[in-house]
Amino acid sequence: MVEYLIVGAGFAGCVIAEKLASAGKKVVVIEKRNHIGGNAYDYYDEHGVLIHKYGPHWFHTNSDEVIKYLSQFTAWIEHKHVVKSFVNGKLYPFPVNRTTLNLFFNVNLKTEEEAKKFLNRLKIKFDGAPQNAEEKALSLVGEKLYNAFYKNYTAKQWGVNPKELSPSVTARIPIRYDENDAYFNDKFMLMPSEGYAKIFERMCKNKNIELLLNTSFPVPFEWKNLIYTGKLDELFNYKLGKLPYRSLKFVHKHFEKEYFQVCQQINYPNEHEYTRIVEWKHATKQVCNGTSVMYEYPVSLEIGKEPYYPVLSKESLELAKAYKKLARNKKNIFLVGRLAEFKYYNMDQVILVALKLADKLLAKN
Ligand code: FAD
Ligand code: UDP
Repeated sequence: MVEYLIVGAGFAGCVIAEKLASAGKKVVVIEKRNHIGGNAYDYYDEHGVLIHKYGPHWFHTNSDEVIKYLSQFTAWIEHKHVVKSFVNGKLYPFPVNRTTLNLFFNVNLKTEEEAKKFLNRLKIKFDGAPQNAEEKALSLVGEKLYNAFYKNYTAKQWGVNPKELSPSVTARIPIRYDENDAYFNDKFMLMPSEGYAKIFERMCKNKNIELLLNTSFPVPFEWKNLIYTGKLDELFNYKLGKLPYRSLKFVHKHFEKEYFQVCQQINYPNEHEYTRIVEWKHATKQVCNGTSVMYEYPVSLEIGKEPYYPVLSKESLELAKAYKKLARNKKNIFLVGRLAEFKYYNMDQVILVALKLADKLLAKN
């Protein structure tokens, strides 16, 4: 009998496998795809450019623990993630900062104080906390900026009215009063110097890890403990109903020029069916001829097949809670990761919960 069966070889599955294996435990990892790395997987395209197969993955964290852990498997390059948003024919810094305010409203705010006062007048106040993603954004930036930068992007990204989404979705975006144009506020903003796939390779290189690719759960052998990182509703055969996930379509292009656009990510909230164009070289700092870019189109799960994003609403969170209750009744099943916990986790958050679960499993046995 297999003592630990781990379903899925993304960050959640591989971190737990590595921790258990390093402590001398034998684990079997199954992965339905033909490679490890989950959605963080990257590879060199036919032009020799390092690209991310499942959408752009920019590493950022405030956790020293995550950096210490991952640094066993990779060196890093500094990477300030810069995003611009294309609105009314112009590029604006996004998240909204003082430069965005000056350009968009044609004003001349010189200090953080002035920007704060200006934005405070635009913000919409609600009785109590904002109840949905639209209210959250309106409470942060007001109607004009919401309509220009958030409203259509959010509707297109999620395929539902922003009023139906949890406030936590738009709360992800910081607001700035200075001219800082980094996308994230974290202490560490980095990229793995040889890419993500190498991290996973090194994590799984352990004699105690048996890795089975192209293998889906359920499996025809017995196991004692199941560490599950796949879709939560699928684990229970959809018996309480389907959880909503959003999918994506990626269109890759290559150009025989040094750079295609001014920074690694340009968002297109309004005119196009795609949400963003990403140019890899800006972030990986790769020196090579030509450049590859990726257009990202949100699509329904039926069309795109891969469940990239849990769609967070009051109803879906209730349903996820009911599924998690079913799992809690089974003492040898452990849910971890973005799909299994139905949480809009970033990579570092997944690594932290996986490290915690590995400690718990080791303490138990
Ligand atoms: P996954 O990476 O999804 O891995 C789960 C694995 O389980 C997959 O390989 C899947 O094939 C496998 N699996 C599922 N079901 C089964 C089954 N039944 N049998 C066998 N195998 C199965 N995070 C950041 O920090 N920064 C970013 O910039 C960022 N950008 C993102 C952009 C996009 C488009 C997406 C979709 C996500 C992004 N993320 C980003 C989030 C990041 O991808 C996740 O936090 C992280 O990859 C989650 O790891 P995981 O192991 O939980 O899930
Ligand atoms: N968002 C937006 N406009 C943008 C970028 C983001 O309205 O230009 C909103 C949108 O609802 C999106 C959410 O903020 O889903 C979170 O954005 P983030 O960049 O964190 O999304 P991810 O990289 O996870 O797709």
